Amino acid sequence: MTDDSASNSRAFKVVGLPGDGIGPEVYAAACDVLSVLQETHGLLIELDEQLIGGVAVDATGSPLPQQTVDACRDADAALLGAVGGPKWDGNAAEQRPELGLLKIRAEFSLFCNLRPIVTHPALHAFSPLRPERLQGVDLMIVRELTGGSYFGKKWRDADQAEDVCRYTRPEIERVTRAAARIARQRDGRITLVDKANVLETSRLWREVAHRVIREEFSDVTMENMYVDAASMHLLTRPADFDVLLTENLFGDILSDEASMLCGSMGLLPSASLNEDRFGLYEPVHGSAPDIAGKGIANPYAMLLSVAMMLRHSLDRPEEAVALEQCIHGCWSEGLLTRDLRTDGLTTEQVTMAVCERLRIQS
Ligand code: NAD
Repeated sequence: MTDDSASNSRAFKVVGLPGDGIGPEVYAAACDVLSVLQETHGLLIELDEQLIGGVAVDATGSPLPQQTVDACRDADAALLGAVGGPKWDGNAAEQRPELGLLKIRAEFSLFCNLRPIVTHPALHAFSPLRPERLQGVDLMIVRELTGGSYFGKKWRDADQAEDVCRYTRPEIERVTRAAARIARQRDGRITLVDKANVLETSRLWREVAHRVIREEFSDVTMENMYVDAASMHLLTRPADFDVLLTENLFGDILSDEASMLCGSMGLLPSASLNEDRFGLYEPVHGSAPDIAGKGIANPYAMLLSVAMMLRHSLDRPEEAVALEQCIHGCWSEGLLTRDLRTDGLTTEQVTMAVCERLRIQS
């Protein structure tokens, strides 16, 4: 049996983490699509549903119960809806739903965060940018997720505070390699975003990242851009970028800025990967308590997260492309939820439309 046929016939283990608010609603859409992919593409997936976030706090006292961690340790990937909501806003720090997310990232060393930003002509009208600027935008933001000032030493007194931004050579090397492998499957161009005119950490990033590219990825190019310039060019010429590689804090800010190119939070998927191909796949949006329970949540960000999971953790790129094509086909026909159209469809109607296309396409 070849490696390919082995990966085609084995059952993948995926931990399902519906979470809070609209999380379970968009997660249900993902389950429907996965079940159709099993019929149409012979995909074998064992879904193991576990608790995270507010529902986990209510049931166990912890936002990331040990049982969830154990299930993920045994899995190829985890698929998360969203966590959080007003019910838990007053909780002590250890019982905040969002802590479940930070803990799962740390527990599984999910150092590489991917956010694809792809515009589609049918959605140009929903972006604050002019349509001609959005033509052909297809970029991938690779954000380092477990280092930098978010995780460095912190302290404050009444008059001063400090958040230490520290990066090590191995941390920069591994995320550069991840970005280069992704660039190879795309246009082969990385823009390294930093503040090397001011920050010592940025100068280390430049030195290490360029050496990795020079020595290991001769087919990939890397240019430098200061973060202030990048934030401007993302709005003036977004179609020029291929892969944008950057540290934790800059990536957090730039990825939210870039998300506006697409028009709605409900359209954006993400992946957070470790070195063993395990990934946490989730929509970029939160639990949207204002619309939870109404059946109108936009499921596209979650369905695109499923496509990312197929590509990056399950090694099933054909199914990923098939799903993305069905989603883009739905966009072209204006099959959108109410965050984008006042007369929009429900979550279930959109999900059914995607499933129907998958069946027809196969
Ligand atoms: P949010 O993303 O939940 O909502 C922002 C706005 O976008 C709301 O008006 C919401 O209705 C709309 N929206 C978001 N996703 C949508 C979708 N799929 N379809 C239609 N409309 C959608 O952000 P928020 O209101 O700042 O946060 C709400 C809760 O979510 C908070 O508790 C926050 O901590 C949490 N949160 C969780 C995550 C996560 O789980 N990864 C991310 C961000 C925020």
